[in-house]
Amino acid sequence: MVADILAAPRADEPDPPPPPPPVAGSRPKRRPAAWVAMYHSVSDCRDDPYNVTVTPARLDRQLAWMARRGLRGVSVRELLAARARGAEGGLVGLTFDDGYTDFVTTALPVLRRRGFTATVFVLPGRLGGENAWEPTGPRKPLLDVDGIRSAVAAGMEVASHGLTHLDLTRATDRVLHTEVNDSRHRLAGIIGVGIEGFCYPYGRLDERVADAVRRAGYRYACAIGPGPAGSGDFALPRIHVGEADTAVRLELKRRLARCYGRALEAA
Ligand SMILES: [Zn+2]
Repeated sequence: MVADILAAPRADEPDPPPPPPPVAGSRPKRRPAAWVAMYHSVSDCRDDPYNVTVTPARLDRQLAWMARRGLRGVSVRELLAARARGAEGGLVGLTFDDGYTDFVTTALPVLRRRGFTATVFVLPGRLGGENAWEPTGPRKPLLDVDGIRSAVAAGMEVASHGLTHLDLTRATDRVLHTEVNDSRHRLAGIIGVGIEGFCYPYGRLDERVADAVRRAGYRYACAIGPGPAGSGDFALPRIHVGEADTAVRLELKRRLARCYGRALEAA
């Protein structure tokens, strides 16, 4: 159970009673290590064979849990900039993989109500398409150019998830180069600024893949587990957060992040 809790949960749990609000002056001297949460789709769709969907109500409760602890959800770009100033304490990186249209229609309003930002990792090779890389399960629409621009206009970070959602560790050198470089150029063409972040599809990477991402000009890349030794900011670990993650589970995940190499190392 303990080792399993950082992975995808299997069953839902009843909500625990809300914890008491923090007492003024009770904050521990040493702030907890920063961490990055990994979401995908935010929707009321209950057909979710890959455990990648949270309902907007659950997301709202999870963000409320963060806010009650004095934590603020931010994009990875903002988190790393804060870390560079030694000011990442109290921040949680929020990431949404695959770039589903529900990021704009459903997650964004929830994030904005809290004043939080996030990073959405999109697939410029599938603009306006759907999650055709999943062999089964519900088809979900992906952001198009207008959707990407509205996410940026709302203060969110848009970053690359590659072009088409391939396992890059199995790609030829040429395909790897195209997925990593062309996705960055296409995105920059859409939003008009340099793209800083990359996210490995399926969380899969090796030294060759991390090297290609570094050489393409990105400043960081998100993984899931810790990457190969020396990957640094090119394999930022993340904690999966799903529909089953009630306040009790979130607290446990937060505490276990450092033990399981899922906390962000200080710069
Ligand atoms: Zn993905």
